[in-house]
Amino acid sequence: MTTTILWFKNDLRLDDNPALAAACQYADQLICVYCVDQRFTAKSDYGDCQRVGPHRAGFVAEALLDLAEQLGELGQTLHILDGEPEDVLSAIAAETGADSVHTEIERAPDEAAQLKRVNDALGEACELVCSPDNTLYRLEDLPFAPADVPATFTKFRKKIEDAIDNRAPIAAPEVLPGPGELAGLALTQVDVSTWRRDAPRFTGGERAGQERLTYYLFETDRLAVYKKTRNGLLGDDYSSKFSPWLAAGCLSARRIAARVAAYEAQVTANKSTYWLIFELRWREFFHWTLARVGARLFSRGGIIGRGDRPTAVDASSIEAWQAGRTGVPFIDANMKELTETGYMSNRGRQNVASYFARDMAQDWRWGAAWFEERLLDYDVASNWCNWATVAGVGTDKRDNGFNVLAQARRYDADGEYILHWLPELEAVPAKWRHTPWQADPATLASIDYPRLAHIPAEWADHIPD
Ligand SMILES: Cc1cc2nc3c(=O)[nH]c(=O)nc-3n(C[C@H](O)[C@H](O)[C@H](O)COP(=O)(O)OP(=O)(O)OC[C@H]3O[C@@H](n4cnc5c(N)ncnc54)[C@H](O)[C@@H]3O)c2cc1C
Repeated sequence: MTTTILWFKNDLRLDDNPALAAACQYADQLICVYCVDQRFTAKSDYGDCQRVGPHRAGFVAEALLDLAEQLGELGQTLHILDGEPEDVLSAIAAETGADSVHTEIERAPDEAAQLKRVNDALGEACELVCSPDNTLYRLEDLPFAPADVPATFTKFRKKIEDAIDNRAPIAAPEVLPGPGELAGLALTQVDVSTWRRDAPRFTGGERAGQERLTYYLFETDRLAVYKKTRNGLLGDDYSSKFSPWLAAGCLSARRIAARVAAYEAQVTANKSTYWLIFELRWREFFHWTLARVGARLFSRGGIIGRGDRPTAVDASSIEAWQAGRTGVPFIDANMKELTETGYMSNRGRQNVASYFARDMAQDWRWGAAWFEERLLDYDVASNWCNWATVAGVGTDKRDNGFNVLAQARRYDADGEYILHWLPELEAVPAKWRHTPWQADPATLASIDYPRLAHIPAEWADHIPD
């Protein structure tokens, strides 16, 4: 009788789960575990941010409950346990005689260090087996060594587009090995149902993620117009919104690619269907870039080690940005959306990051850490690499900042988005809603909206008369 432990992390699904598939092939008896470790209560290294904020904790809880239910239908049990994985998993292995722990590989520094701690704690009697994670490609598929991942997205994309076909996803298992007994162990189960949110914008879980995939492709055909709508700001359908489910591993990137291919074969193949995969390749690029550069990504000078980046960490400026109280409506509306829903559009993220790192000239890492706390779809590589890129410390020195007012006028020309999140601006004449400091003093005095102190010179051409 071989017993194996399946350690779930950011792979909360049955479909196309390589660690689950490997464990099923190997074991007669399976013990499924998720550890609620110190990340759920830890503070970040930057300011007063939490590593996991309430939106994401709620989403993960929903995903765990969905996974537990699906495993239960296959006769399995998901043990959601309090504690550090190295303690929990080694205790279970010692008690049950499990000779392996199956899990997904992780390459970010903190996560890789955790894998090493688990490996050390398990010792020689129990092997830690790491399967591929939630990327389109596996390490062995790449047409370059990990140390030679191209430094620019275009070079990366061209090499992989020319060289690799998308990996076929693995079907969800229909039967599972039986559950192992944990009765003799003093482990603390965590009741994550108390973390669930009321009426969330996006609900965690594999089944909700699969529903979103079907909805976006086959039910509504939104995929067919994705390239035209992807820079939208209001509503849920201008872009796929796959990111929260991808980040928690409720959806597999390879499954998305396979279903897009099916859509192309059955419905239509056009620039939009290509573009969704193009965007997934950005995710892929950042994932493999983090694997290449490791801890360097998290330094102020970033991947390229620039020494001229802002060092300021001004508490009142940062708090105003976090709270959506900067006095720039386009920034504030986006930050309010983030706080209230855990989501912000890609256009919004680029602008609020640029405003933080360039216009407010703050150390970009404090902004990235706030996103880490708040985003439903927080993904270590996507978040920190995107922030580094906007801050000019990514893989090249280019100025990737934005003229935030020009962007606001272009992407929210009629002010509909800012009014949705900042209804107090209704009192300001429409033509000045993006520049409310132009309104007359009586109007400004009648609303609770901050007055912008410094107006960047480059905005001059975008300020109406
Ligand atoms: C400062 C900043 C921080 C970000 N932090 C994260 C993060 O923590 N997690 C995250 O998933 N995305 C992050 N992004 C990327 C992007 O904003 C989101 O992936 C996207 O908005 C998610 O919405 P969607 O699923 O509807 O995207 P769609 O436009 O529908 O794109 C489909 C998928 O492609 C991938 N993708 C699209 N754009 C990017 C990108 N620029 N970088 C990496 N992957 C991309 C995502 O997996 C996304 O789900 C960040 C972008 C910026 C500028």
